[in-house]
Amino acid sequence: MTMTSKILDELNKNKDVWIALRQKLHQYPELGFEEHHTSDIVAEKLKSWGYDVHRGFAKTGVVGTLKVGDGQLRMGIRADMDALPIQEQNDKSWISTIPGKFHGCGHDGHTTILLCAAEYLARTKNFNGTLHVIFQPAEELLYGGKVMMDDGLFTHFPCDIIFALHNMPGMKTGEFYFRKGAMMASSDTVHIEIRGVGGHGAIPEKTIDAGLVACYIAIALQSIVSRNVSPQQAAVITVGCIQSGSAPNVINDFALLKLTVRALNPAVRQLLLRRITDLAHAQAASFGATAEIKHVNGSPVLINDATATDFAISVANKFFGSERVHTDTAPLMGSEDFAFMLEQHPRGCYLIVGDGDKPDCSMVHSPDYIFDDSIIAPAAAYWCHLTESYLK
Ligand SMILES: [Zn+2]
Ligand SMILES: [Zn+2]
Repeated sequence: MTMTSKILDELNKNKDVWIALRQKLHQYPELGFEEHHTSDIVAEKLKSWGYDVHRGFAKTGVVGTLKVGDGQLRMGIRADMDALPIQEQNDKSWISTIPGKFHGCGHDGHTTILLCAAEYLARTKNFNGTLHVIFQPAEELLYGGKVMMDDGLFTHFPCDIIFALHNMPGMKTGEFYFRKGAMMASSDTVHIEIRGVGGHGAIPEKTIDAGLVACYIAIALQSIVSRNVSPQQAAVITVGCIQSGSAPNVINDFALLKLTVRALNPAVRQLLLRRITDLAHAQAASFGATAEIKHVNGSPVLINDATATDFAISVANKFFGSERVHTDTAPLMGSEDFAFMLEQHPRGCYLIVGDGDKPDCSMVHSPDYIFDDSIIAPAAAYWCHLTESYLK
């Protein structure tokens, strides 16, 4: 039987306050590791509600801790705070006031959702144990979560279970989407630097054309997904940038390829990286050029723990009804640096809350993306129920 969420009824009474906060955060977007204004607001609110507040993990990260009763269990909920370097194109009254910066992924919404839940939980104290609310910088750089790990987040704030969520256009408003196992892809940025011999555009026999080598490598890379990876597995290699030269009559001694590489399986990820390296070296050598491969950054496959996901699903079913809960969501080829937290601390679950599935809705990272404020209350109510159900 589905219970109705009394917490949702309670949060709905005050929802305008939280919508106003979300829109205020939206007006002052800050990029990764620069979330000074945002983290000030977060820290000040958490303190005023009685949380122990720690600042400084990953520069601008904030952790609020609330211990109630004598329960031994500890739970962590993470929200991301950073914006994107995109010029917003919306006509709302609350659009970004900072040129070229925009909360185009709804992290203003995630921060507000967790603050809304944190306020309710501190006011009602209807749980027994330790809650850590974790506000993370630089998710869009895909390593804010890693820096928090490197700074010892879970050593200082041990958790028995961890959770995070993301809003998503194209999915039903305020509904909950789960998946056990791999839910989001690994992401690796790889640069290939090709060195040849430059010269006059009319005297090619005295050159090794690095630009031409780059073209062959870009084409050869297409064979990896089609011929090295099992058709049962998901993988993407995108050459997003090819740079070489600027004049029509010059053969260039240097070319640069920039790649993004995605996979839903850690072994496939390693296969892709190995084949890119081998192919680039061999292709360059076949022309008498050299290729240097630089692994610029990478984040792991996001893998949800089955037990934690079953628990998260059971709470959603109980309080929101199974008709609003999707348990076998297709994995996404996008990436998410909560994967670093789940890699170090596998007992956890990342879920998606739908932002609305109108056919013309804009995807996250689009200049006209709009976060749906109506999901703040249900998503915050979910965090509250999850906390009260786990810490009891
Ligand atoms: Zn994003
Ligand atoms: Zn995001």
